[in-house]
Amino acid sequence: MSSPNAQPPKAPAQLREVTPGVLVATSTIMATNTTVLTDGHDALLVDPSWTPDELDSLARQLRERRLRVMGGFATHAHHDHLLWHPDFGDAPRLASPRTAALAREERDGLQQALGPSFPADLKDLMGRVEPVERMPTECVPDGFTVELLIHDGHAPGHTALWLPRQAVLIAGDMLSDVEVPLPFWPDDLAAYRRGLACLEQAAGAAGYVIPGHGSVSTDAAHRLLADQILLREAEQGVADPGDPRLTDPTMRDYYARIREMSSRQSAAGLANDPPTTAT
Ligand SMILES: [Zn+2]
Repeated sequence: MSSPNAQPPKAPAQLREVTPGVLVATSTIMATNTTVLTDGHDALLVDPSWTPDELDSLARQLRERRLRVMGGFATHAHHDHLLWHPDFGDAPRLASPRTAALAREERDGLQQALGPSFPADLKDLMGRVEPVERMPTECVPDGFTVELLIHDGHAPGHTALWLPRQAVLIAGDMLSDVEVPLPFWPDDLAAYRRGLACLEQAAGAAGYVIPGHGSVSTDAAHRLLADQILLREAEQGVADPGDPRLTDPTMRDYYARIREMSSRQSAAGLANDPPTTAT
């Protein structure tokens, strides 16, 4: 047991099937999504998350379904996406090269972000990922192809997983219905826009999108467009866009920060622009 002082169970997130072989459990914290890809025997875990009792519950549910964990993948180097549980076993845990490097370099801060009461064994397992540019087939269950869409923006080396055979886009912390674009640490709006562009083709073809936080949707393209529109509105200095995510005060604060970034960058851009000469 990884959480000996577990509270009375509070309905830990249950895995539910989005489409055959693709299971999702949603955390009580920030609606964080764990994705499990399975052929009924083997399983690849994407961002298993995130409270200790939820990780215990995930391990139990995998055991009840008699699934063997053949691999794990972390979409980016933030504490809520790098987790693992001893009962998942010692299958390869993978991430993009930049994510793997950050998980190592920023290990102390990432562990602190889990909070003082997080069990030591789970803290120790956090972030132990190996770098890959492509998904090794021995970590992918039968019936799946996993394409890694590696980009920057939300985090350096952030990675979405595109499953062309299931038409499922596992978007990491992009394309959320509860979070606005978060192009921070490092602040880089241009990288975020490029990140969205990197997802555009898959989003257009996706039957389902599974965001890192929020609800699973059948309309990935609409989510992507909503993010592009919000970034454009920030750039234009729109104070109060109609985006429903901004009813959350935290998201309003983030939007204000994006506006500040936009105006800083356009001021810097104007200062750097060479004088135009009429020809
Ligand atoms: Zn996250």
